[in-house]
Amino acid sequence: GEVLLQVNNLKKYYEIPQGMFKKKVVVRAVDDVSFTINKGETFALVGESGCGKSTTGRTILRLTEPTAGEVFYEGQNILDLSYRDMRSLRSQLQMIFQDPYASLNPKKTIRQILMEPLRIHRNFTEEERLEKILRILHIVGLPKSYLDRYPHEFSGGQRQRIGIARAVILQPDFIIADEPVSALDVSVQSQVINLLLDLQKEFDLTYLFISHDLSVIEHMTDKVAVMYLGKIVEVADTEELFKAPKHPYTQALMSAVPVSHPREVKERIILTGDVPSPANPPSGCTFHTRCPFAMDICKKEFPKAVDFGNGHTANCHLYIKSEEEPNHVAYHTH
Ligand code: SF4
Ligand code: MG
Repeated sequence: GEVLLQVNNLKKYYEIPQGMFKKKVVVRAVDDVSFTINKGETFALVGESGCGKSTTGRTILRLTEPTAGEVFYEGQNILDLSYRDMRSLRSQLQMIFQDPYASLNPKKTIRQILMEPLRIHRNFTEEERLEKILRILHIVGLPKSYLDRYPHEFSGGQRQRIGIARAVILQPDFIIADEPVSALDVSVQSQVINLLLDLQKEFDLTYLFISHDLSVIEHMTDKVAVMYLGKIVEVADTEELFKAPKHPYTQALMSAVPVSHPREVKERIILTGDVPSPANPPSGCTFHTRCPFAMDICKKEFPKAVDFGNGHTANCHLYIKSEEEPNHVAYHTH
């Protein structure tokens, strides 16, 4: 496919005061992340909370400024854009948030909320704006009688539909959806997911879909990048990743969900311990403190990406042939 978004060596570091003396420590929330999203694709970022997936999304849209890296959108590095140019690009790049209530202004009516993005285009008349609002309300499945009501009058699922309407009203090309159904009742999750899939077809959307929920990811995405402590540790086509996960962390994530079809992972890997603090990450492979297969080298070096073909890569020493360990046999190679 044709590349729409290319992220190169993206970093977001920030300082936080820690301990009794409020010593400044650097948190590497996003640490050298690279990936490519093709047009029309749904690309997932998955990982436990705090792994940096939301920060990656926010940094791409410059809702927070990155520390380093490049984000090419249709060939242009958007991190180089002026505030003004970025503002006009915003109509093409949109975000849907996890908590639709927190992201909707409670003092504004649905009409006002949906009117706001349309202000960017000064050439629309009031009638044209209203027409667009009514059309988008219809598309996301809300009656027009809702127009002059406030967000608190709606259920979580309806509020998320309003958040989605706001994101798509300018007909963007690219949408970052950050845990768009995690705050919703299970019964409405699939309705909202189906709406996102319908919109993708209708508007030719490309999604960056951020989630910790593997069943949602398996259902609706084409490609997955697995993040752990600010770094991507595995990337693959969704089907391939669920069939043959390579990284022990990915295998552990999959062991934790009910299995609906056979996978090639031979044994369950149980994740023990908490995610270490990103302010004080382990050396080498940052997963070594929780990995049942950790070797000496894992504590020393972050493993480079091993290529399994078809765009499937994993950063794990198990698959790197080492001259110092001639008897080492790679685990779970297929
Ligand atoms: Fe485990 Fe080592 Fe692979 Fe990290 S590099 S996942 S510690 S085996
Ligand atoms: Mg998050």
